[in-house]
Amino acid sequence: MAREKSDSANVKKAAAEKKPVEKEIPAAVSPASTAKEAAPAPEKTAAAKKKTAPAAKEAEPAPKAAPAAKEAEPVKKAAPATKETEPAKKTAPVAKEAEPAKKAAPAAKEAEPAKKAAPTAKKAEPAKKTASTAKKAEPAKKTAATKKKAASADKRKAKAPVVEPESTPAVAEPAPVMEEPNLPRRSVAFIGSECHPFVKTGGLGDVMYALPRELARLNCDVRVILPRYACIPQEYQNKMIYRGEFYMDLGNTGRSYYVGIMEYIWDGVVYDFIDNEEFFSWGNPYTNLVDDIPKYCFFSKAALAALNYMNWIPDVVHCHDWQAALVPVYLRTLFKDSPVGRARSVITIHNLRFQGVYNIPTIKYWSGLPDEAFGMGALKQDWVEANMLKGGLAYADRITTVSGTYAWEIQTSEYGERLEDHLRYHSHKLRGIVNGIDYGMWNPETDPALAENYSLGNVLDHKMANKLALQKELGLEQDTGKFVIGLISRLTNQKGLDLVNAIVPQVLDGNTQVVVLGTGDKQYEDAFRAYEGSYKGTFSACIQYDEGRAHRIYAGADALLVPSRFEPCGLTQLNAMHYGTLPIVRETGGLKDTVEPYNEFNGEGNGFTFDRYDAGLLLDAINRAKSLYFNNRYHWDEVVQRDMAKDVSWEKSARQYKDLYLELTQW
Ligand code: ADP
Repeated sequence: MAREKSDSANVKKAAAEKKPVEKEIPAAVSPASTAKEAAPAPEKTAAAKKKTAPAAKEAEPAPKAAPAAKEAEPVKKAAPATKETEPAKKTAPVAKEAEPAKKAAPAAKEAEPAKKAAPTAKKAEPAKKTASTAKKAEPAKKTAATKKKAASADKRKAKAPVVEPESTPAVAEPAPVMEEPNLPRRSVAFIGSECHPFVKTGGLGDVMYALPRELARLNCDVRVILPRYACIPQEYQNKMIYRGEFYMDLGNTGRSYYVGIMEYIWDGVVYDFIDNEEFFSWGNPYTNLVDDIPKYCFFSKAALAALNYMNWIPDVVHCHDWQAALVPVYLRTLFKDSPVGRARSVITIHNLRFQGVYNIPTIKYWSGLPDEAFGMGALKQDWVEANMLKGGLAYADRITTVSGTYAWEIQTSEYGERLEDHLRYHSHKLRGIVNGIDYGMWNPETDPALAENYSLGNVLDHKMANKLALQKELGLEQDTGKFVIGLISRLTNQKGLDLVNAIVPQVLDGNTQVVVLGTGDKQYEDAFRAYEGSYKGTFSACIQYDEGRAHRIYAGADALLVPSRFEPCGLTQLNAMHYGTLPIVRETGGLKDTVEPYNEFNGEGNGFTFDRYDAGLLLDAINRAKSLYFNNRYHWDEVVQRDMAKDVSWEKSARQYKDLYLELTQW
């Protein structure tokens, strides 16, 4: 998902470029460790800490200098148109022949109970300590070091926008209408690294936003636990209220880390943000693995400790992707005897490519997980590396991924990203549940970003106005007769952009325009910019992340390209269909499950598809779409309306998740 995630290849790169460390960290080293493994765990250098967050979304784990194993520093300081109804007049262009182109420490030393609490709109519950979760706070006995930490924490807290209850009510919006209040109630804690509208770099952010809201309507009590990144817009920071704080040890660092909890309640969902400026002060959620591994070890452990601290023990802990993959592992090890230890766990794979792989000593050092978690059946990947996602998959009670086809594909060597054997072993607990889209967020009838709103009943009258407005906005020739193809994507290898690159000149036949919106790998950004330069008025390259523009492309384009090499689910094809824009997709993962190929003989289908990863086949699919658009507009329009009528909402999928929770908690 459009996150700058660090992949395993990059991990290796980063690991390989580590320089000898200066000081040894007392990291636990597995007996099987080689001399190389025994290298002290890297820790951030001061220079690394000062580094500014990279601007590009798809940040590669920078081959940073080896983090020196020096003693961790104290926590860092705050970072914290007019209606155009005429049908196209153009005659059909001749479609070009497709050419084959080429411990028990759970947790928390709760050093500072909630007595320090700043004014909160919702009364912070007193911290309930259990023997297993909390070491009794002893503020009076603070050492000089802890006093320093506390002072720094106080400073942090002073900066936290704690809002008086009078000025910002905790409950910003009315609770959702409970559609079926008689359904059995379950409580679920969502734990993940991004969530719209606070922080989103791709589909994970959409899911973390939409699924909890839908589950709330199905009588689930949902809490979403997120890092409190400094990049969360101020308008949301202002709405958060202080819920409490405590201190937690982390791995073998020998340090006690501040964990603040800031809360925001919105539309029936409680959002709890884990606050710690040392880990979350970057401008971007993801930076590189050297920083991200400690960050998400801390986050996973702090999330569970926070549940204990708030005394809110969910029936199910539902965690997402590698960033939260240690949650199920912690749950069954360090937290097993704490209150939250009774929760069942589900892990969802949104993209198997990103796994959180790093050398064993480092992950041991930061996670503090016992040796048993580092067996070949769990975190251990090979003699050198540990894989956080692999561990999560082993320890979770259920594994889901975001489409049925992807659930099957990831058990093959082609798509398994080296975890196919592990996934086949755990296939009895693996399930595919396709994503939906949030109809509140994606609704052409009410979308404020559009030039003209429209619905299923009047799409044919209004879509042209959106096309003209889009062409004007992007400096393209304003002509409703042109066939406009959109592409909204992270510009990475996964998304099939080499195929697109190879055929742009053949696609641009004088009757077609192409609009690309995305950021990512420089090679694709440059290639698309070059096409814009060569095909002025016909090709638009928007190298940016722009939500509003994305909405206008969905509304103004005729077709949307998603030629991915692999695609766990894909949301852009769903957005496009809901906006009456026909998808042209490769038959893989969720694209295969959500787009039925148009059948020219019986007129059925939702879009245009191709199977093998081949530029010629992509061109052929585009030409089939053009051919229908220019030669048989009546049938094209039928498909437009069929796509808008198709149910791509979260409702069905949310029920499947709810069923899964019920299956896990049969009492
Ligand atoms: P992935 O999660 O792999 O990036 P998805 O198709 O699952 O891909 O989700 C992508 C989401 O991010 C969609 O909601 C899409 O509209 C949005 N998106 C992607 N790139 C951009 C961009 N450059 N500007 C605005 N929205 C974008």
